[in-house]
Amino acid sequence: MKILSPAKINLFLHVIQKRPDGYHDIFSLMCPVSVYDSISFEFTGQAIRVTCDHPDVPEDESNLAFRAAVLFSEKIGNRSLGLMMKIDKNIPVAAGLGGGSSNAATVLKVLNKHYSEPFSMGQLQKMGLAIGADVPFFLLGKPAIASGIGETLDVYDHWFDFKVVLVYPGISVSTARVYKNLNLRLTNCKKKPKYPIFEKRKFDLTSHLHNDLEAVTLSWHPEILEIKNRLALCGADGVLMSGSGPSVFGLFRSPDKAYEAAKRLSDNKAWRIFLADILV
Ligand code: ATP
Repeated sequence: MKILSPAKINLFLHVIQKRPDGYHDIFSLMCPVSVYDSISFEFTGQAIRVTCDHPDVPEDESNLAFRAAVLFSEKIGNRSLGLMMKIDKNIPVAAGLGGGSSNAATVLKVLNKHYSEPFSMGQLQKMGLAIGADVPFFLLGKPAIASGIGETLDVYDHWFDFKVVLVYPGISVSTARVYKNLNLRLTNCKKKPKYPIFEKRKFDLTSHLHNDLEAVTLSWHPEILEIKNRLALCGADGVLMSGSGPSVFGLFRSPDKAYEAAKRLSDNKAWRIFLADILV
């Protein structure tokens, strides 16, 4: 059985505050996009195993797909679950696209289905949150406004009328390091009044596109600015870094311009370019 596991982008990401437990409260419009890993599942043997064709993805107990399977097997009281998972990685790793969290969510969903749905969506999301802050969002699987550390999700019901050109510059970025270097006092004094105003409104490219983490990652990797400029030159209606980066996306109202931009930016062989849609 092969199942697709999508990436995400953040159309806006405001970091509200650091909590005593070390996590950060955020306010973010998260959207799944049509860039996928594929995970094959085989129920066989007496142990959980995972393999991945990407050198930067661990195949031991630190793999998020593995952790999800172990957690699920503990919750249903089956400690000898025999499961072989093979991840075909297409989503760039440590790139701000949530690939690992998406894999974990896919595993929880597949196992829940395999066992005839012993857990509700709420229970699965609680399990997912123990693995990573973005896992509940991927379990939901549609655009949503995430708050808290990502556990509070409001489905975002509007349609998106643009194409996404996603550019991965071939650099890995540690999310933890980005948050550590974020100066919250600086971001908050400028931005704080902005985020609550968004509630129930339709996403507007010109006023809502924003990422508090962008300045941090950009200061280490100026290439991010180069990508943003090139996407803008190609006629993007909006450009932004996703999550903690370094992936950058351009939003295009015109599918033709998006296609043309993807083609043009492909001249840089160090970058990976994806032409994608937001999954609603
Ligand atoms: P974050 O959710 O931290 O913002 P990201 O989207 O930037 O993450 P991921 O691709 O999820 O990045 O990878 C983050 C780290 O998790 C990598 O260092 C990777 O080695 C590790 N990892 C563990 N399991 C997986 C997995 N199944 N897929 C991808 N990365 C994984």
